[in-house]
Amino acid sequence: MNQAPAISLVVQAKRKAENGVDYSPRHGARCPWCSRKTATYCTRPWEGPARIRFHRCTNSACVLSSMGVSIKSLEADQND
Ligand SMILES: [Zn+2]
Repeated sequence: MNQAPAISLVVQAKRKAENGVDYSPRHGARCPWCSRKTATYCTRPWEGPARIRFHRCTNSACVLSSMGVSIKSLEADQND
């Protein structure tokens, strides 16, 4: 077996990061690769019922973190 993570899994996680993961007001956004809580570095204003944020994974052992991939998150207003 290959020691490195399968490329297709990395591509999948990267695509998820680009398309947007769910944002929880309580838990924030989790990294699509390592599932850890990410650090928010950009918060956009509300646009209609949704708000976009950008995060970075701070886990130094994480593939997305080592590639410098930014993770997009989507928060939807549940009360709308
Ligand atoms: Zn990660």
